[in-house]
Amino acid sequence: MTNCTNGGCACTPNQSIKCTVTNCANHCQDSAYCGLSTIQVGTHESNPTMVECTDCQSFQLK
Ligand code: SF4
Repeated sequence: MTNCTNGGCACTPNQSIKCTVTNCANHCQDSAYCGLSTIQVGTHESNPTMVECTDCQSFQLK
């Protein structure tokens, strides 16, 4: 994987993006931050009303 950012690859924690989703390939495993410079947040709902309605659309399964 050329865009790997953890698990043996360099991961620079982006301190503007806190994240606890350690199953994500973009997560810096040893710190609670995302390694991407930007992320895309979206929703799977037509009328989002709760935090559960939102998604990180930059998630990649590691
Ligand atoms: S891409 Fe999204 S889910 Fe993955 S580490 Fe970054 S913020 Fe977390």
